Amino acid sequence: AHSLRESLFVVNQYAAEYFQDILYNNIDGQRIGMTYLRGRGFRDDIIKKFQLGYSTDSHDALAKATIQKGYKADYLVKTGLCYRKDDGSLRDRFWGRVIFPVHTLSGKVVAFGGRVLNAATKNVQMKYVNSPESEIYHKSRELYGIYFAKQAIVRQDRCFLVEGYTDVISMHQSGIENVVASSGTALTAEQIRMIHRFTNNITVLYDGDGAGIKASIRGIDMLLEEGMNVKVCLLPDGDDPDSFARKHNATDYQAYINGHEVDFIRFKTDLLMEEAGKDPIKRASLISSIVKSISVIPDAIVRSVYIRECSQMLQMEEKILVEATAKLIEQAR
Ligand code: ATP
Ligand code: MN
Ligand code: MN
Ligand code: MN
Repeated sequence: AHSLRESLFVVNQYAAEYFQDILYNNIDGQRIGMTYLRGRGFRDDIIKKFQLGYSTDSHDALAKATIQKGYKADYLVKTGLCYRKDDGSLRDRFWGRVIFPVHTLSGKVVAFGGRVLNAATKNVQMKYVNSPESEIYHKSRELYGIYFAKQAIVRQDRCFLVEGYTDVISMHQSGIENVVASSGTALTAEQIRMIHRFTNNITVLYDGDGAGIKASIRGIDMLLEEGMNVKVCLLPDGDDPDSFARKHNATDYQAYINGHEVDFIRFKTDLLMEEAGKDPIKRASLISSIVKSISVIPDAIVRSVYIRECSQMLQMEEKILVEATAKLIEQAR
């Protein structure tokens, strides 16, 4: 007999195969789903590798197929694949979407993301629908792509962090496999520890416009706290990791990253300095923000290297930064 958790994984696995079957064998799956995925430039082997699927416009096709197979309705609800309407009947959460299964570190399907095909014609806020938290799915503990990336992360001793499903998939397609996505939310300590099992080196890839960077800075401070070497790479204006991957092969992509990635503390200092300009109050607050980032770094030698560098960038006496950092460390004890 299965435990509840095991049963939920079994149902998810069945659903993943079901959505794949629709993509490959259903007329709408082919005409709509596959056309969309190929139209985005995804190759057939990549579509297969990531077990992408499609859900038709039917609001209960998965529920019916699953119940007919003998799976309990209760499991469908507990995985979040379906939910109950007021009259007690089952309704599919995912319909009219391409499906991205989310795999655990060991490759089990733990959740799904579904993307509308034409975001412009439907409610754009719902471009993606994701599985809700469940007995097996805790969003904060999973990283999209980790199962497919882990070996490459070890081999390259480096992990790229991107935002979304399609960024991960496109980079794989272009030959860069050491990449995971936080799926649009701030990185958590659990996700960071998962990456840290495989490498100390992480490069965060951002869109060229630089939007979203500020919001992510807190999450990045957590990477420093974990003792990881964090770099940031801005992509050219207008590009995201997905579009850039479709224009460049792995060699050119890597070369771009190697030429443009900068150390995170330096990046943050630059960014905040630019923002603050000559305003003394803003400068003071940027200095405390930098000092805060440095103070969470566990290694004292690494801290002192950064302090020296930042004192030059900020044109401030090193001694002042040393003291401010020490004070924060003392307070955190
Ligand atoms: P695409 O290229 O297909 O538009 P994307 O991955 O670039 O997709 P973004 O809007 O940049 O999409 O969002 C990044 C990630 O955030 C998505 O991959 C998804 O995991 C998550 N996300 C986006 N929109 C939503 C939403 N409405 N609800 C939940 N998660 C979302
Ligand atoms: Mn995006
Ligand atoms: Mn380490
Ligand atoms: Mn995108």
